[in-house]
Amino acid sequence: MASAKFHDKSGLVLAIVAGVSSIAITKDLSMGSLIYSGVVIGTLWLGPDIDTRQSKISQRWGPLSILWRPYRKTHGHRPWKAIDLLKKYKFRSHWPVFGTLERIAYLFMIFGAPSLVIASWMFGLNWEEILWICRLYGGRLIILLAAIELSSSWHIVSDYLPFTRHR
Ligand SMILES: [Zn+2]
Repeated sequence: MASAKFHDKSGLVLAIVAGVSSIAITKDLSMGSLIYSGVVIGTLWLGPDIDTRQSKISQRWGPLSILWRPYRKTHGHRPWKAIDLLKKYKFRSHWPVFGTLERIAYLFMIFGAPSLVIASWMFGLNWEEILWICRLYGGRLIILLAAIELSSSWHIVSDYLPFTRHR
């Protein structure tokens, strides 16, 4: 596997490249910031290596890392050979797209759903208003998810690059 240092450094370079390129293409600074942030979040806090307690990503969560315990119990760390990744369901944290979607869904169940309930109670929002907010920011949310996935895909690729192999 690639070292944590390699994952962090290359992920942050990817964030800058993706952010700057998107600003160049869209001429939209907020779009570039969103993509940059998504790749940084994916690299530092939501990467596939959250499946092991000792990983740098897990350690960054500090005491909150305990929230990922059930996730870790149901996932195995990726196999040595890329060809074996799809052989077992437990390796899914290192599956492209699915791994990210599952982590986001997990995070939503733990933080998102309770936050929505608390926010709707505090601000007196009803479901129609919440749906309206989701529709308003849905596009941006999808772009943020795509940026998180970009970092995750890069993580998986770099785990299996011959020159980044490290135990
Ligand atoms: Zn990994």
